[in-house]
Amino acid sequence: MSTGLPIAMRPFEERSRQSSLERALTCAFWRTVQNEPIPVMAALEAAARALGHLYRQTAAAHGPGGSCGCGWQPDPEADLIVLEAMLAAAVMQQPVEDLAEMEVAGRA
Ligand SMILES: [Zn+2]
Repeated sequence: MSTGLPIAMRPFEERSRQSSLERALTCAFWRTVQNEPIPVMAALEAAARALGHLYRQTAAAHGPGGSCGCGWQPDPEADLIVLEAMLAAAVMQQPVEDLAEMEVAGRA
């Protein structure tokens, strides 16, 4: 089960913690590939597998007999659609730095 809320509508604290987690995962990825060079797609495949493992482990903690009582109920089919959409959106997202190079389209 997902919250179903677009990222921009989530509470500030949750978005802040998501950003913190993204930074930590990104730093771990780049630190690892700098120390142990690996073909690009092999590295990205490993990152995708790690995310899948994290989902499975998290879902196990929330399924029958799971240890977490937060109320989240895994729905692998729906959750994977959300995760695939996040992956696609991140791939298609323009880097923020590009905004400075964009031409002004009009005047206010
Ligand atoms: Zn939980």
